[in-house]
Order: sequence, then C-alpha cells, then structure tokens
Amino acid sequence: MKTLAQIAAQLQGYDPQAMTADGVLDFLSRLVTPVQEVLDVPLMQALGRVLAQDVVSPFDVPPHDNSAMDGYAFAGAQLAPGAVLALQVVGTALAGKAWQGSVQPGQCVKIMTGAVMPAGLDTVAPQELVALQKTGQTEVVTIAPAVLQAGDNRRRRGEDLMQGRAALLKGELITPARLGLAASLGLQTLRTWRPLRVAYFSTGDEILSLGELPREGAVYDSNRYTVFGMLSRLGCQVIDLGVVRDDPALLEAAFTQAALQADAIITSGGVSVGEADYTKAMMKKLGDVAFWRIAMRPGRPMAVGRISSSKSASAALPETAYSYQNESKDTLLFGLPGNPVAVMVTFIAFVRPALLQMMGARPEPEVLLKARSLEAIRKKPGRTEYQRGRVSTTPDGSLQVRTTGSQGSGVLSSMAQANGLIVLHHGQGNVVAGDEVDVLMFDGAL
Ligand code: AMP
Ligand code: MG
Repeated sequence: MKTLAQIAAQLQGYDPQAMTADGVLDFLSRLVTPVQEVLDVPLMQALGRVLAQDVVSPFDVPPHDNSAMDGYAFAGAQLAPGAVLALQVVGTALAGKAWQGSVQPGQCVKIMTGAVMPAGLDTVAPQELVALQKTGQTEVVTIAPAVLQAGDNRRRRGEDLMQGRAALLKGELITPARLGLAASLGLQTLRTWRPLRVAYFSTGDEILSLGELPREGAVYDSNRYTVFGMLSRLGCQVIDLGVVRDDPALLEAAFTQAALQADAIITSGGVSVGEADYTKAMMKKLGDVAFWRIAMRPGRPMAVGRISSSKSASAALPETAYSYQNESKDTLLFGLPGNPVAVMVTFIAFVRPALLQMMGARPEPEVLLKARSLEAIRKKPGRTEYQRGRVSTTPDGSLQVRTTGSQGSGVLSSMAQANGLIVLHHGQGNVVAGDEVDVLMFDGAL
C-alpha cells in the first residue's frame, strides 16, 4: 500500500495547495484499493453490489427458437413476391408446450408468443396480418403479398445470451436489468464484493443534532443526512457516529472508533484554513493525511488520507467494535468541508468515484449531458465550478437548464430543487445565455 508521499512523488507538479479536480481524481485512483472479500449472495441481496467474477452463460438464452408474436408459424421460403400465400392450420404450439408434429409445405401451426418454433419453421405471421377461413374442420390462413419476410417474428436461440460467453462482467454494478439477466440463467446466487462499511460524523461546536434545542449561533446538522443518503444510494453499510464537538479527546475517540469499524470515514467541517478547531490536528496525529486546496467551487478545502487503527487505541472501545474490525487496519479518510453544498459536491465529484473503486467497480467516465443554458453564468477560468441546475426538455426535444437560485455553498434549498449539476470545466470562462453547458444528472447518485 503506497503512502501519500509515494503517490505524490509519482505525480508531476503535485501541489496540495493547488489541486485541480482532475488531479484529485487521479490521486484518489492511485490511493484506493478495492476490498478483497467476496460473498456469494442470493440474487435479491446482490442489487447495487459489484460482481466479483464474470458470469458465464451455462446455456443459450432463449434455449430454442421461439415465436415473438401470437400468430401462425410456417416455412418462410414459401413467400413469393406479389403472391398471396394460403396455409392450412395443422396444429397449435403453446408457450411451454411444444408442437411435436411435422409440417408440410402449404401448412402452418398456430403459435403463441414464446412457444418453441416447430421443426423446420422459421417465420411467424402475426394474427392481425392474416385472414382466417374455416370450412368444417379445416382452417386456412391467407397472408397478403409483401407484408412479411422469411424469418420475421422469430426469436433466435441464443439471441439474448450465448452459452459459454460472459453474460455479465466482473466489476459491473448489479442493476435491476443485470439481476434479471442473472435470473434468466437460473442463477440463485452471485459472487460479489462485500459491501463497504462507511462511518461518518459531523464536526463543529455550532452543530446541533436533531432533537436538541435550538440555540443562538447553532445550526442543525444537515451533512449527516445528505451523506447518509448518498452512501445509502451507493449500497454502503453506514455507521453514523453523530456530531463530534471540537474537543481533542472526543475527536480522537471518534476517529479511532471509525477506523476500527469502517473501510472509509467521511467527516465534514473543520478542514478550512484558519479553523480554530482540532479536527485537522487530530487527522494529522492519527493518520497519513494530506490537506488540499482544490481549484473548484464549491468545496475548496478537503483532507484525504488513511487512518490506521491499532489494538491499543481500541482498548477503550466497547466490545462490539471488535466484531466489525477492519481487517486491513487502514481506513480511507475523506475530510470534507463543512458547508452543506460543498459536502454534496465533493462527495459526488470525488468520494463517490473513490468508493466505487473501493467496491471493486470498473471505472466508468461520468456521463455528461449537453443542455442549453437559459441564463448567463459568470465563471472564472482556472477552477471547476458546479452550479445547481434544473434540466428540462424543450418542446422540440432538446435539453435546457436553468440554475436553481442562490449558489452559496451553504444554500441547500437550491440543491434540493436541482436535478443535476452544471459542470463548468477548469479552463472554461463565462457562459452566455443560449450556450451549451455540460450537466451531470443526479439520477442514480442522488
Ligand atoms: P467549517 O468547514 O467547519 O468551517 O464549516 C463551514 C460552514 O459549514 C459553517 O458555516 C458551518 O456552520 C457549516 N457546517 C459545518 N458542518 C455542518 C453540518 N454538519 N451541517 C450544517 N452545516 C454545517
Ligand atoms: Mg467547523
């Protein structure tokens, strides 16, 4: 495991006082190591976890050629240009109950969606495209010219998944569709990386927990709730360590307990310059931690590093802490700024990708959408800015975005109204109304 200094030495022009957003991501990708334990879990518990091995299809899906429609199956070679085709119905193929007989030229089989195609037949005429005539016991369907081609409305064996091929890949996040795909292979369990345990606490003498009486100069803790929400959406197991006052003993106990129990710790507050508190000092004392100034807005200050837990430090903790003991003894630390929107933005920009990497997920570039800005936005080149935006679709089907009001880094209401972040890149300057801007949608993350 590399120290922060070793990683810094690999990077050109590393300057903790002048980090770029890209530089932070690069640093974190070198710092983070995936959890190594795998778990075989029942399918429904696997949602949101990361696959720890490829899933290879044990058979073809679908296992037989079958009908995509309710209609009449026949041999498509009989279709002739400009000619009506008349076929005598000689039987019925139901889903789950194949029709076993043989079919001669001039004959067809009534077939239901999903039923196995009878031998030798490759085309299905949908019910609504044929005319049916009954004379006594005999049924004949006629198909008009030029409405069908050979092979139409037939699903091929293996068109979804081929036997022996990887159906899902190691490192893929298990989504509802992937869960369904695994089920279609008859799998009852999936091998996944174990979920991350993430501890978090808020710091600051002015921060009130819910239930405490308001007092002058104090604010209710919102960061623990946004962090809880974002971690939960990521499928992490959360350990809420509450609000920790600016007191060295309390901070030390909180960090120690968090390091013992969790794979990662997220704190908020106490990392800005000139803070009259002990958070930074305690991080330095207990771990290998870098304090960064990031060229971004909101969210300039941030601490990143590792805290090791030692047996002696754990002696004072309750017995239950041991049962969750973090085997690597090294816990990733994210010291986020205190301002509520800065917490969310730094989480989305940096913590989320780092935690995904730790979960074993394959890195995937964020999907940015282009939307036309409904207003001018002032932007200084030389830092990455995130504006809270509300994206909507115009009548002609293109995307437009407006900001959601005050962009102060403590203003959570404009974050609550937003459905995405307008990302104004490092080198970008002012935006004129009507310009296209990049938007990172919250969908999935928030
Ligand atoms: P700090 O980074 O500790 O200087 O905090 C910056 C600003 O964020 C201050 O106005 C704090 O009151 C506010 N703040 C810090 N932590 C929280 C929190 N958990 N919930 C709401 N506001 C907070
Ligand atoms: Mg503070």
